[in-house]
Amino acid sequence: MLPDAVMKQAQQEMLDWRGTGMSVMEMSHRGPEYTSIAEKAEADLRDLMAIPDDYAVLFLQGGASLQFPMIPMNLLRGKTKADYFNTGAWSTKAIEEAQRYCEVNVAVDSTDNRFTTVADKANWQLSDDAAYVHYTPNETIHGLEFHDIPDVGDVPLVADMSSTILSRPIDVSRFAMIYAGAQKNIGPAGLCIVIIRKSLLGDVLPDTPKMLNYKTHADNGSMFNTPATYSWYLAGLVFDWIKQQGGLEAMATINKRKADKLYYAIDSSDFYANPVDVNYRSWMNIPFTLADSKLEKAFLEQAAAEHLLTLKGHRDLGGMRASIYNAMPEAGVDKLIAFMQQFERQYG
Ligand SMILES: *Cc1c(COP(=O)(O)O)cnc(C)c1O
Repeated sequence: MLPDAVMKQAQQEMLDWRGTGMSVMEMSHRGPEYTSIAEKAEADLRDLMAIPDDYAVLFLQGGASLQFPMIPMNLLRGKTKADYFNTGAWSTKAIEEAQRYCEVNVAVDSTDNRFTTVADKANWQLSDDAAYVHYTPNETIHGLEFHDIPDVGDVPLVADMSSTILSRPIDVSRFAMIYAGAQKNIGPAGLCIVIIRKSLLGDVLPDTPKMLNYKTHADNGSMFNTPATYSWYLAGLVFDWIKQQGGLEAMATINKRKADKLYYAIDSSDFYANPVDVNYRSWMNIPFTLADSKLEKAFLEQAAAEHLLTLKGHRDLGGMRASIYNAMPEAGVDKLIAFMQQFERQYG
């Protein structure tokens, strides 16, 4: 979902942005109007996340998936090994891509528990010569989320925050790099945000294309080539909206309350189940199964009739999944819970 208020504002401004006679889609990305839009979006994101000045904020294309190879290209910096946590489908994809460039040490492996929990720190196999540690704070498909930042000592920590960025305050200074595809918790697809410590820029693998070097984008204000201008603009409207909601503390309070309610409804029923360790349950993506998987089709059809949409689980996992990102109002979660209870009374 995107916030209604944001979409209404975009609709109002679509044909004529603030008396310029132009749509944002029609502006030159180097003109003063678009420059003001781009700069405000970056300033608002820096403000929301309290991003320190020694970090670059980049607005890139290629999605989170293009960062999977760009991370080793840019962050190995003379080393040949990186540590990865494998806690779900997205971690696995990041690992597969990194293995093309370096030795990957899987320091934490949740495949044995089917991505439902994370081993105690005493069992992590961190190496002493890793260039960086990569993990996925929120596994969008499996619904497993870290509620604390893993302590990896002085090794640069890299996080794929695609589905959890802006859901709560985080201490950016604990990370070497944070990245997030915009389409989960920020705005429309087409944009990937990268927040990276400036001192790590520039020491790339030989033959790295200019476009895949973070320094190229940092040196050019993310305008080395034409950026995804409209997605960037809409992301800026979302940042503004989050500020109006009270910032990330306010988002965290609402998000936790929404998630707690839905988990409570699932746990207090024998009809629905969520397999994830309670200490690692996601606030954003809540997968659940029905007691009888043959009822899934009826569940989805009846839910859709009540405008409860996109509840089908990921094709890799099956079952259901409620993605309750920032823009999902609490009333939407209440409505889903009421529907689930009614469906259980009918079929349970
Ligand atoms: C969706 C997602 C991705 C992939 O994002 P794209 O922008 O489609 O490349 C990567 N990581 C996580 C955690 C995601 O949720």
